[in-house]
Amino acid sequence: MLQTRVIAPVANAHQAPLLIRRLLLSGSRYEKTREIVYRDQRRYSYATLNERVARLANVLSAAGVKAGDTVAVMDWDSHRYLECMFAVPMIGAVLHTINIRLSAEQILYTMNHAEDKFVLVNSEFVPLYQGIASQLSTVEKTLLLTDAVEKTADLPNLIGEYETLLAAASPSYDFPDFDENSVATTFYTTGTTGNPKGVYFTHRQLVLHTLAAASVLGSLDSIRLLGSNDVYMPITPMFHVHAWGIPYVATMLGVKQVYPGRYEPDMLCRLIREEKVTFSHCVPTILQMVMGAPIAQGHDFGGLKLIIGGSALNRSLYEAAKARGIQLTAAYGMSETCPLISCAHINDELLAGSEDERISYRIKAGVPVPLVEAAIMAADGSLLPADGESQGELVLRAPWLTQGYFREPEKGAELWEHGWLHTGDVATIDDFSFIDIRDRIKDVIKTGGEWISSLELEDLISRHPAVREVAVVGVVDPQWGERPFALLVLREGQALDAKGLKEHLKPFVEQGSINKWAIPSQIALVTEIPKTSVGKLDKKRIRLDIAQWKAAGSAFLSTL
Ligand code: AMP
Repeated sequence: MLQTRVIAPVANAHQAPLLIRRLLLSGSRYEKTREIVYRDQRRYSYATLNERVARLANVLSAAGVKAGDTVAVMDWDSHRYLECMFAVPMIGAVLHTINIRLSAEQILYTMNHAEDKFVLVNSEFVPLYQGIASQLSTVEKTLLLTDAVEKTADLPNLIGEYETLLAAASPSYDFPDFDENSVATTFYTTGTTGNPKGVYFTHRQLVLHTLAAASVLGSLDSIRLLGSNDVYMPITPMFHVHAWGIPYVATMLGVKQVYPGRYEPDMLCRLIREEKVTFSHCVPTILQMVMGAPIAQGHDFGGLKLIIGGSALNRSLYEAAKARGIQLTAAYGMSETCPLISCAHINDELLAGSEDERISYRIKAGVPVPLVEAAIMAADGSLLPADGESQGELVLRAPWLTQGYFREPEKGAELWEHGWLHTGDVATIDDFSFIDIRDRIKDVIKTGGEWISSLELEDLISRHPAVREVAVVGVVDPQWGERPFALLVLREGQALDAKGLKEHLKPFVEQGSINKWAIPSQIALVTEIPKTSVGKLDKKRIRLDIAQWKAAGSAFLSTL
């Protein structure tokens, strides 16, 4: 490293470490009476939030939780989860946000791997917990979270029920200062092969991520999604990358927050309407689910601003949302990146251009946010030009990227090969610094020596008026190596076969957007497309399903 001038601080200078505790302070200073709302069941002020965080810290400490211990949560999105996001790291412990949508076997693996000592369990997950309890090797105590009148459950080493314990605890706690590089949170990401991998984030990383997210969402005129008068509700689970870290941003700013519990379209729409939610974030499939829900028909979403990330945003969804009054902003990130990396920023030059061009930029992964460096890397580790043409793996550097995988140094070293975090995504970066994700490396379809982006095909196919949802994967072909295969969910009363789809795609071949090999020779019409635990297209499952259908000669396959 370069030798520079470093002056040691005087002995009594306070270093003010970047701790999550500091994020909690300002919200209640700004807006003491503003509310935190949980479904139609509970609402309280920021002043109460601060007290409840202290009460929870007292409960945890009294139960024996010490700095460095891991405290796990199994809950839907709730005010309790928000309190855990603060209280657990603020006493120096590590919050493990359990992905409750994984299989029981995977949950068990993650809990043992993370060495969970203390677990907060929602009553809905008690049967699941009971099923794995005897194989949990590190858990010492449990605590019950419940909305029910019944305040007890058959959980091993139960210390009590959340609200009852909080009510009996002191509303003040002398939170200590400690090293900002202490781990604050951990959770598991599920790849296509092998066991889930544990990523982890420090106080310093979460604080810097919060500050960067707040500045991007609040200060860039082309984005301006979150100001202190907005009303925030997550529609990305809190177990998945801390609901993209936005609860920390909202709390720091004193924004009214609404937590919807389990995601039920009726409750989501009701809360949006009755609590006047103006800002949220989700993956494209969840937005589709919400807009398509029977209760949402005729619902006025006017004024709702959403970040869409986690998967590519296609043009049809962008336009459908716009027609319903929803302003979408695309963003990119991943579990390993805390997650915010980039957000679609329409600069002066693009503003002066055509609406069509603007939309094509609004749906891209966006421009790296402050403090993030992004580059395109070739297979040999060299960096490629950001010319909008050169494709390679998107690699990243930023202060808030996971520094490895928990207890798996070899996988961590692979993630950080050549000193850049490898995303596993093929991308380009153009002159406007816009990242364009072309595909996951493993989802690119290789047919007859040509490379086809499954994302691009999905975008073009979704523009057909009969198509409600689409997923494209490569399937093995003896002649071409691979061929694209499309899974389609059609709109009610609509019909489409492989020939019809070919007709729809032909003009894009003629314009040169795709080559003729990109036209799927086989499609399947289904009622539902498999999704992952966080609502993304589950391409691993889709490939398995297709292989089985082909072996069985299923009648619903349509071939050219
Ligand atoms: P996860 O770690 O499960 O959150 O998944 C991260 C992956 O989601 C990334 O590596 C991308 O493949 C994908 N992804 C996230 N945001 C976008 C986006 N805006 N456009 C395309 N793909 C995205």
